[in-house]
Order: sequence, then structure tokens, then C-alpha cells
Amino acid sequence: MFKIGCHLSASKGYVHMIDETLKIGGNTFQFFTRNPRGGAIKDINYADIEEYKKLALQNNIEIILAHAPYTINVCSANEETRRFGIDTMKEDIERIELLENSMYNFHPGSHVGQGVEEGIRLIVSALNEILTKEQKTLVLLETMAGKGSEIGKSFEEIRKIIDGVNLKEKLGVCLDTCHVYDAGYDIVMDLDNVLNKFDEVIGIDKLKAVHINDSKNPYESHKDRHEKIGQGYIGLEAFSKIINNERLRNLPFYLETPNELDGYKEEIEILKSMRK
Ligand code: FE
Ligand code: FE
Ligand code: ZN
Repeated sequence: MFKIGCHLSASKGYVHMIDETLKIGGNTFQFFTRNPRGGAIKDINYADIEEYKKLALQNNIEIILAHAPYTINVCSANEETRRFGIDTMKEDIERIELLENSMYNFHPGSHVGQGVEEGIRLIVSALNEILTKEQKTLVLLETMAGKGSEIGKSFEEIRKIIDGVNLKEKLGVCLDTCHVYDAGYDIVMDLDNVLNKFDEVIGIDKLKAVHINDSKNPYESHKDRHEKIGQGYIGLEAFSKIINNERLRNLPFYLETPNELDGYKEEIEILKSMRK
């Protein structure tokens, strides 16, 4: 099954996100666990979750992806900021456990001048506090574009994080096509080599999801500006190869392109038509 969907607003609950997903021809979706700017979290709506689980089963929604607020930074130089990030992730994971079919994606963080090594040390220490043996939720490190002092711009950095974490089996990676292209992995000209490299450095079995975004900027620009599918520097031909690649095709794909629901629907149609 081609698992495809897009980023949706969670403000009206999980059942509503299923409705929207079905409307646009998807079978999975991504959402922010809370308002990325505010950070406040709503009360748990158990009725919505129960109904969600029923509908997910009925509609073959095998897996979904929760995204941590992008404003948290567990490798900040400020201790309070780190603490807030850790507590947020712990609370998010507890909630996601209730859904039973969601993974949890987060941005590793920005070292803000402390250096990559110190940043990685702080991320490892955060994850060692956050992850529990009991949790079923896989936590995904997102590959980053390398904007500012972002960590996770290379497969080596991600590998170092995983290496330091005790409960490695709770970790995976989400590959963002815009980010890796901006970071300097040429998925347009040389997808196979990029995946070989991923396998060599991290292990392809750790790859659990793909953010499928075109890029407004050229290769290696370290910018992180998403573009609509086929309208950026990555282009349709590359996306056709990406969604059909043997090592990627069974993963869930999430659009985070600048679109409203109608635009997402069109992009899902395009991608489905290219799927072999
Ligand atoms: Fe992200
Ligand atoms: Fe992304
Ligand atoms: Zn991005």
C-alpha cells in the first residue's frame, strides 16, 4: 500500500483529521502535538481518541506521525529551555501512546554556538531521560537542512545521537527531502548513493518515514524553504524515483508543502499517478 498523507491542523481533533485525510485521498497524516508557538496543550479528549482508533482500523490508517513543536530545543544553551523541551516531549509521548499507531518526530535542535559536539551530548542526555522501556511510540529524529546551528544536517550527526542513546530500539529517522537536498545530499542526481550512504552510516532499517517536500532553494543551500511538489529544485522526476524506490516505497510519506487542503489533494493525486 502507498502510504501518503499531509500535515494537518490538529485543532479539531483526530477524527476530524481522518475525515480530511479521506477527503484528499490519503491514508495517513501528520499533525503538531500542540501549537508550535504557544506550547500549551489541550485536555485529552478520550471520546475522540476512541472514535479515532475505530475509524483508523476501518479505513486502513496503519500509521500516523505526531510532530513535536519546532520551537522546542533540547540542546539549547539555556537550561530552562532544555527542561521545557524535555518535559514537552515526555508529555507528548505519553499522549501519543493512547493513539496506538503513531510515531513521534522531532527536530534534534540547534546548538546555538555551543558546538556540534556539545549539542549532540545534550540531545543524547535529553533522549536518555525521555525514552522509557515501556513506551511503544517510536521517536524519529528528523534530518535537517543545516540552517543556523541545526544539528542533524548530516547522517553522521544523527548516527552519533543514536550511538549515545541507551534505548536505541525506540529511535528512528524521518528523512525530509527538502532538508537533505538543502543539506547537500543529492537525491535528484544520485538517490541511490544517498541511500547507500544512509545505510552505511545509520542503517536503512532506522528509516521510518519520509517528509516529501520540494525545495525553493538549490542544492546545498542550507535554507529549509519548502516548495510545492514539482515546483522547486527537486522536481517531479526525482519524486517519482523517491516514491517508487525499493528502499523507500513502503514507508509513510508526508507532504509539508505550502498548501491548503485542495492543494494537498492535487499533490496526492499527482504522486499516486506516478506510483508504479
Ligand atoms: Fe519538521
Ligand atoms: Fe519536515
Ligand atoms: Zn522544513
